[in-house]
Amino acid sequence: MHAFAFGFPRLGTRREYKALLEGFWSGQLSPAEFSEGIAQLKLQRAAAYAAMDLIPCNELSLYDPMLDTAVMVGAIPERFGAYTGLETYFAMARGKAALELTKWFNTNYHYLVPELQQPEFHLLQNFPLEDLRFHRSQGIEAVPTLIGPYTFLRLSKRVRGGGAPPSPLTTEELALFGEALCSVYARIVHELSQENPSCIVLHEPALALDVPEAHWELVHAWYAQLAAQGAPLWVLCYYDSVADYRRYVELPVAGLGLDLVSNEENRRWLAQHGFPPEKVLLAGVVNGRQVWATDLEAVCNELEPLAANLPKLVVAPSCPLYHLPVTVAHEQRLPLELRQRLAFAQERIEELRLLRDALSGDPHARTQCRERSRLLAHPFARNEAVRERLRALTPRDFQREPDVATRAQLQRERLRLPLLPTTTIGSFPQTAELRRLRAAYRRGECSEEEYRAAIQERIRHAIALQEELGLDVLVHGEFERSDMVEYFAERLEGIAITDHGWVLSYGSRVYRPPIIYGDVSRPAAMTLAEITFAQSLTRKPVKGMLTGPVTLLLWSYWRQDIPAEELAYELALCIADEVRDLENAGIGVIQIDEPAFREGAPLKRHKWGEYFRWAVRAFRLATAHARPQTQIHTHMCYSEFNDIIEHIAAMDFDVISIEGSRSKGEIVESVATLAAQQRQIGVGVYDVHSPAIPTVEEIQSILRRILSVLPPEAVWVNPDCGLKTRRWEEVIPALRNMVTATRELARTMVPTPAR
Ligand code: GLN
Ligand code: ZN
Repeated sequence: MHAFAFGFPRLGTRREYKALLEGFWSGQLSPAEFSEGIAQLKLQRAAAYAAMDLIPCNELSLYDPMLDTAVMVGAIPERFGAYTGLETYFAMARGKAALELTKWFNTNYHYLVPELQQPEFHLLQNFPLEDLRFHRSQGIEAVPTLIGPYTFLRLSKRVRGGGAPPSPLTTEELALFGEALCSVYARIVHELSQENPSCIVLHEPALALDVPEAHWELVHAWYAQLAAQGAPLWVLCYYDSVADYRRYVELPVAGLGLDLVSNEENRRWLAQHGFPPEKVLLAGVVNGRQVWATDLEAVCNELEPLAANLPKLVVAPSCPLYHLPVTVAHEQRLPLELRQRLAFAQERIEELRLLRDALSGDPHARTQCRERSRLLAHPFARNEAVRERLRALTPRDFQREPDVATRAQLQRERLRLPLLPTTTIGSFPQTAELRRLRAAYRRGECSEEEYRAAIQERIRHAIALQEELGLDVLVHGEFERSDMVEYFAERLEGIAITDHGWVLSYGSRVYRPPIIYGDVSRPAAMTLAEITFAQSLTRKPVKGMLTGPVTLLLWSYWRQDIPAEELAYELALCIADEVRDLENAGIGVIQIDEPAFREGAPLKRHKWGEYFRWAVRAFRLATAHARPQTQIHTHMCYSEFNDIIEHIAAMDFDVISIEGSRSKGEIVESVATLAAQQRQIGVGVYDVHSPAIPTVEEIQSILRRILSVLPPEAVWVNPDCGLKTRRWEEVIPALRNMVTATRELARTMVPTPAR
């Protein structure tokens, strides 16, 4: 019995990764210092894996593994010019015409979407080989890992020219591009095989999506070609059950991973169809996405009979460990009762070690498994009052009255906004000074009054600035919030915040997912003070800014023994209470952000109905009792929702703001549907993920495109997300251009009557 872990967080125990990248980008670190720091981090990771039987390498991507793969196989769009190493790499990641950034499967990690022009690839740099050699030079024997060809192609987009938006590959294109790609992969695998690694690990989570039979044919052919290069191949598929168990286990490779945690399907198929005994089964038994300690005793009991039949059984995490923080060891402030129920990445490795030893017959390890499981057995953190409130809900609690058109009229009368109203998504720059202030407050080095006054000063400045820029619906700026989920989590009961539980979102961006450890309730208003203060400074409407129940849930870790649906409703009731408090204080526009709404969708289509049913109901529960005159906005940071448009529409908001600048023209179809239903839409007119300042012309060209499909009365103008990661020097001219572009265009337009 062996144990293998993969995807250990890149971040490092003290967020070294973030510091290195940002230091390098800002020029504070020389290239030599940067690569020395990265090398140190690699050694730290190898040490974290020490108790495992194999150590994976090529895991420390400098931005994103999909980007690495694109660069490795020479898939660099022409606009980035000739490849010059890191310069090209980071230009693709975060330059002015960067690749599109989007959610990775149903997680909160984001990857860069490779753009494919021609079915031509060439090996530009064999990253796994370089990293294998680096590890050897340090005396570490590691196994190379890389993203598999199917996942790479499934997540890439084809650029077809002629102004057509990039789109996923068709099956024919998959065959064409796959053939070209696999000859490069074959070369990579061949070069690696020359080094005699124990195996080569290929990540193929896309095999957990819906995979048509024609794709399986291709995947089988590709892997036959790769397997012929020498080294044993291990394929890992995770985040859900494999699309087709039998096709999967027939893949001509030496080892296969099965996620036994996401749901019961893989386990059921394994029991029904068995597993080829000559292959390595990587049994994904410890959860790579949730933080709850594994019931090790139960896993031992389950795996024992399997191990008897499968000599090559390996215990593994269900998916890469980078969805978890590094270690629980530094969370001394969490109550012991909670702490002993938690396992982050380092603890998952310890669990795998224990499982391996216990299953290999070590009685001491087996006793430890039993003892740990016993600790988890007693009831914990349930709240009867909250459960009672859920039981008492009726259909009226999910249905806002009157209909959207009537509401729109009432809101128009109340708000009196110009044509093409301008606004922002909520946050303004979180400067170093502001972060220092919040840290000082948290450490108790600055008093409550001082802190409040300092926040108020910033709100005052933000309101004055927005008035000066001529924005129509203002925001308070979210200066008091470190993070849109954490801020609310800190104020809700039943949710814990860690001190060091950082997880990578994209690039160097990290967040600290809260831990929903019991039933959730709201002891007091959470946002009232700041929003009403901002509103007191201006006659223009200030938008109250809340995070929606689905996002609060999905960007946290949550109890696995309470249905996600129930937790979403508990959170929704907290938000509904907050909406009421804001309305009572005179706030007329309230935005409830749901950027996580789409990523919660299961990987397989046939499971969508069930998820969206409760996700939509959670949002409706949060807003059903809002007054008709209150304009409810929502925001999502992406625009690919042609396929979920009916669910989006069912959320019954008045206004939605979405991304629109990075993903070029793809939005059109769905936004037109929404406008036809009397919804108003703010399509992001510039990309907040890039420091580039959009010009008036660029903004107008996006706006014109939007106005070619939407009636002007349905259109709002805003950046595509919050501005917290930008600097004021970028934000001010960008917003100034946005307002200028809008006012110029609006002057040329006449509103269509009677809408
Ligand atoms: N209101 C949030 C902000 O502006 C929204 C962020 C998000 O959608 N991710 O920061
Ligand atoms: Zn956003």
